[in-house]
Amino acid sequence: MLTIRLRLTLLYALGVAFGLVLAGVILHLALPVVIRERVRSEARRSADALARRVTGQERGGAVFPLSPVFQLRLYDQFGPSIRNSSGVELPDLTPGHLARSWQGEDFFIATSDRRVIYVAPLYWEGQVVGAVQVGQSLEPFDDTLRLVDRILLLYLTPLGALLAAALGYVLAGRALSPVERFIREVDQVSAESLDRRLVARRDELGRLAERVNSMLDRLARSFEIQRDLIRNTTHELKVPLTNLVGYTDRLSRKVGDAANRDLAERAARVARYMRALVEDLLALARGEAMEKWETRAVELSDLLHQVREEVVSEADPVRFELNGEVFVEGDPIRLKQACINLIKNAKKAVDIKKARLGQSGEVAVRLDQVNSQARIAVIDTGIGIPADEISHIFERFYQCKAHQGFSGGTGLGLTITKLIVERHKGTIDVSSVENQGSTFTISLPAMEVE
Ligand code: ADP
Repeated sequence: MLTIRLRLTLLYALGVAFGLVLAGVILHLALPVVIRERVRSEARRSADALARRVTGQERGGAVFPLSPVFQLRLYDQFGPSIRNSSGVELPDLTPGHLARSWQGEDFFIATSDRRVIYVAPLYWEGQVVGAVQVGQSLEPFDDTLRLVDRILLLYLTPLGALLAAALGYVLAGRALSPVERFIREVDQVSAESLDRRLVARRDELGRLAERVNSMLDRLARSFEIQRDLIRNTTHELKVPLTNLVGYTDRLSRKVGDAANRDLAERAARVARYMRALVEDLLALARGEAMEKWETRAVELSDLLHQVREEVVSEADPVRFELNGEVFVEGDPIRLKQACINLIKNAKKAVDIKKARLGQSGEVAVRLDQVNSQARIAVIDTGIGIPADEISHIFERFYQCKAHQGFSGGTGLGLTITKLIVERHKGTIDVSSVENQGSTFTISLPAMEVE
């Protein structure tokens, strides 16, 4: 697709080229007519001047040469010429032409060889005594016309189009620079916050800015409604589901007969799964609704200590290597959630390996600062991810085929983790080898600490 700038440039160039070609065509058609008329009036003047000199009405100067351009010839009533300009190639006047002259008529004679021939009567004391014949070829002008055509079409048109394109490119760039500014402003709105509004100037872009602003108002309003809905739903769903998990757990412990206990345990599992699913869905919805997160300076080694207390027990094979304090700008609750998701997955991967292959594994959580990047790596020597599934694990509801049944998860954990990391302007990478283990690395922009 051509950009507007290029399209305008092309239009300028085509416009100028078209204008020059049109000018060429007009010149090509008009110039011969103009030249012919000029030559004709010159012929009249030359004939008149010659007549005056010959009849002595004007003194001084030789009769010939009168004009360096015109060929001249004089006739008397006996017919042949009485005086010629040198090298004259004028056609002889016919008796008919001479007769017209004797009657006092002046006229142009049509010739086939593009010459202007003019004949005028010669008066002496009120009587016609002869004729003046004046002529000039138009051929030298044809050469000039051809040259003008060539210069205009071969040189001026491409050169003009090129210049117009260069000038057009610069002008179009200048004309479109407010649009570029507008785009930057819109970018900032979407990236920074929905509260920002565009500056409405008094031009076309100003009107567009007004429309965008009112659209942003509506968007902000609908986000607000969505946020409220999510908040209320969280509360409404969480409480009964937590109760349900409690009831089914108690039920499965109390039921005596084996068949019913199995049923109660299944119900408890389903209730737990539903609670996890609701929590994950809400976390995802919150992240995607661009809910405004409270960000502040977060110290990651401290955050990871809290994570350890929440999800790692003494018996878990999870090691923490926290190399100094690393600060990032972020929402501590979401960042904690991202780390917990990765550590839970890693522990699960170790458990699956133990159950499948009978080999025990371990998990290491490492925190470093590399240049301006905070790095949290969760490394496990668990079951690993099949190579053909790695590209899918961040998709919603995706669970590796080989790990299903073990999971207990919802397939949303990594989607949420990625969303959280990206909203902190960070990235998440994974490398994994099946049956050997995986490494998930979160990189976040570190804060400069004085
Ligand atoms: P879940 O909630 O089911 O764990 P996730 O989105 O967190 O969903 O993970 C998607 C899938 O990726 C999981 O089902 C699991 O099969 C695989 N996976 C994630 N982390 C690991 C890991 N550390 N080792 C092996 N497989 C993993």
